[in-house]
Amino acid sequence: MDRDIELLQRAVPRLLSWFRENKRDLPWRHDRTFYTSLVAELMLQQTRVEAVKEKYVAFLEKFPTERDLAAASEDEVMKAWEGLGYYSRARNLKSAAETLFAEGTPRTWEGVKSLAGVGDYTAGALCSIALGLKEPAVDGNVVRILTRLFADGSAEGDALKRKFKEMLRQVYPNDTADFCEGLMELGAIVCLPNGVPLCGACPWRELCRAHLCGEEERYPVRAEKKARRVEHLNVYVLRCGGKYALRKRTEGLLKGLWEFPNSPASAPPPCPLPQGKALAERTAKHVFTHVEWRMTGRLWETEEPFPAFLWATAEEIGREYAIPSAFKAFKDWLK
Ligand code: SF4
Repeated sequence: MDRDIELLQRAVPRLLSWFRENKRDLPWRHDRTFYTSLVAELMLQQTRVEAVKEKYVAFLEKFPTERDLAAASEDEVMKAWEGLGYYSRARNLKSAAETLFAEGTPRTWEGVKSLAGVGDYTAGALCSIALGLKEPAVDGNVVRILTRLFADGSAEGDALKRKFKEMLRQVYPNDTADFCEGLMELGAIVCLPNGVPLCGACPWRELCRAHLCGEEERYPVRAEKKARRVEHLNVYVLRCGGKYALRKRTEGLLKGLWEFPNSPASAPPPCPLPQGKALAERTAKHVFTHVEWRMTGRLWETEEPFPAFLWATAEEIGREYAIPSAFKAFKDWLK
């Protein structure tokens, strides 16, 4: 038998026992349904567990079933998502809830994968955790712990993910949920990404080739990253009679969310501005996965409410309109 598969087979029972004794008490591990697992998995994409915990509980209080979420307006869903970022996930979650409500819970990997916002990793996680299917979920965390276990020097990337998926499939135990979550948990609390992993607390310390050679930090081998694109923007916080101008983004990053009017630094303002100097000015930066915004924000008092915008008080904005955290540097101008 392949040496790596044999090693992985020995690693499985150790991981399961360790997970059952050491797993964190997280809200999405209670009273699980397919829908609640879907909410948790979409929230956890690119977001830290600590940031998700409270939001998850509040979100399910507001939308306890797929039926409630399917019936909600997009603005309500965006508001409940506020602070988590990557808002396309919220739109996808709503659309997936509509599918669940109309068609019922899927029963196969293909059915799960066809839901909005569900990629290969999330499909594997949902199949393993909520449906008891032996479908591995391999993300950067799982790649990290397996490259260390095998001392595998291949560069991170899709080919390596596919290879690990095939290997996991060969050893997947019947307790698919604990195994899938055990791999994630080991990567989250023991086999840490930066600095030194906590090998003394690891159930694999007697098996892990990287640890046995004292070379944990050599793995995973990073693939070269593309540089982020930098975009310069002017942001216009416009006040008129105690109300502020908002507009909804219709395309690209943050599509569907409310924002302060803005335009590329090289383009004219999106409406006529008053003569003279702005009331306040500040620069800010926001980093997305592939793009970085460098913003110059200015606060203006206008005499007429420019009709292309929606005008709302600070209180209404706080209550009803989700403004993405990219603009948070300018939010304290709202009074
Ligand atoms: S022994 Fe150390 S390096 Fe190996 S899997 Fe465990 S924590 Fe990671």
